[in-house]
Amino acid sequence: MRTVTPMPKLASNPFKKHQHSQCIRDALHSAEGLCKKNGFRLSNVRKRVLELIWESHQALGAYAILEQLGKEGVKPAPPTVYRALDFLLEAGLVHRINSLNAYIGCNHPKDSHHGSYFLICQHCHIVAEIHDKRIDEEVASLAERERFSISERALEISGTCQHCQETQHAR
Ligand SMILES: [Zn+2]
Ligand SMILES: [Zn+2]
Ligand SMILES: [Zn+2]
Repeated sequence: MRTVTPMPKLASNPFKKHQHSQCIRDALHSAEGLCKKNGFRLSNVRKRVLELIWESHQALGAYAILEQLGKEGVKPAPPTVYRALDFLLEAGLVHRINSLNAYIGCNHPKDSHHGSYFLICQHCHIVAEIHDKRIDEEVASLAERERFSISERALEISGTCQHCQETQHAR
């Protein structure tokens, strides 16, 4: 029997069917709010890159973003897109998934992040961002024990999401 991992603080589980248009609306709404509050400029390119990343919960690489913008006739130079991605990362609106070399939208950009933990499905590339106080506490006490000063915490956990497990079993 498979045990079901609880997903703390996950507004809508990206692995399950849900009203994704609501995710996009919420993401853009909070991005606009956050930029306004911090005096950041959400230029057209930055906004479009954010929209493309939010089109699904699958991590999206810089190359795919460039390709899509090209199809839309925007054809920005690659550095423009990389700069937009850097901006979105620094503003806390997206996260970089190192193991996929790709980006996902942050599901709660207004909150300060302690640690971000990612469940990454290797089959559909959907990524769930998870925040768990217990992990934060464990990491903090580990760092204290080792007298280690943390600058960034990201934990990438790869595997197979429930949906992909079920579709594989069905075959
Ligand atoms: Zn969604
Ligand atoms: Zn986040
Ligand atoms: Zn999957």
